[in-house]
Amino acid sequence: MIERRKSKKIRIGNAEIGGDALISVQSMCNTDTRDVKSTLSQINTLAEAGCELVRLAVLDMEAAQAIGEIKKKAKIPLIADIHFDYRLAVEAFHQGIDALRLNPGNIAKKEHIEKVVKLAKERKIPIRIGVNSGSLEKEFSHDKKYLADSLVQSALKHIKILENLDFDLIKVSLKSSDVLTMIEAYQKIAVIVDYSLHLGVTEAGTLKTGLIKSSIGIGNLLAQGIGDTIRVSLTDDPVEEVFAGFEILKALNLRQKGINLISCPTCGRCRIDLINLAKQVEDKFRNIDKPITVAVMGCAVNGPGEAKFADVGIAGGIGEGYIFKNGEIIKKVPEKDLLAELEAVIKSSSG
Ligand code: SF4
Repeated sequence: MIERRKSKKIRIGNAEIGGDALISVQSMCNTDTRDVKSTLSQINTLAEAGCELVRLAVLDMEAAQAIGEIKKKAKIPLIADIHFDYRLAVEAFHQGIDALRLNPGNIAKKEHIEKVVKLAKERKIPIRIGVNSGSLEKEFSHDKKYLADSLVQSALKHIKILENLDFDLIKVSLKSSDVLTMIEAYQKIAVIVDYSLHLGVTEAGTLKTGLIKSSIGIGNLLAQGIGDTIRVSLTDDPVEEVFAGFEILKALNLRQKGINLISCPTCGRCRIDLINLAKQVEDKFRNIDKPITVAVMGCAVNGPGEAKFADVGIAGGIGEGYIFKNGEIIKKVPEKDLLAELEAVIKSSSG
């Protein structure tokens, strides 16, 4: 059982982050925010996949002005990602944004920062301070040996600016593309401040490499009880980020979503097309809301044993397979019918 670090809870739209709230999964649209139709379509696809918060890049005034339209039909809270230009933040507030990702130290004039913070305070809109090793300020050491400390110092500098304006609806991220740096940075800040932490490995890579780096970085911190919301950055469809996020949380028993799939790696004993079958099972039951463990096993050597611990399962035979439920064989079916039969058993199972 993981004991979570105690953090201050904040609210972003209808989502809660930190405190005793479940660790949330978020993603970021890769559409042009000015293109309302495409952005909305992606947001709602992400929401259907389980995404709980979504960030939009707000590059110019036109993008900021599109937020209102997007907000009307978006099913999940929206976070505007803004760099440098305080006017975009002001417009995002007017358009009804739910949260900002903005580093106040990047806004040149004090009165502009004050204006943004005043609006955020009035509307109770949280601000994420997002420090990133790729855009670390010159004043901090860029030496790899001290990079984690530099990320922490940079975050503290931005936090101080907000605290001095009596603002504490803060969330913090300290991302690095280097997994060990990111782990060290989060561990350090976790004991300095009590704000909620948004975890991520930045520029993690493609589906496979990014998933591995993110699982190690995010998973390691979560296992230590650190982290309140996560984003798995992948050079891929953002829906994959959401799927990956939940798999990391599920692996640590922090969230339940879809099925818990157990599948064997196959070996010479396997006589059915198990690799495809396991992929189909994974895809088909990605979004079902049932706490159910499903075993997809290649043969009867380990199949029944694993299926004993699973709620339902398949063990392959020769061109056919056995369907198990709570450790008992309930059916022998031809290979071509295995998926449909499994689906029927999962649907009828209480989980
Ligand atoms: Fe091989 Fe059977 Fe084990 Fe799968 S369950 S790896 S097919 S022995």
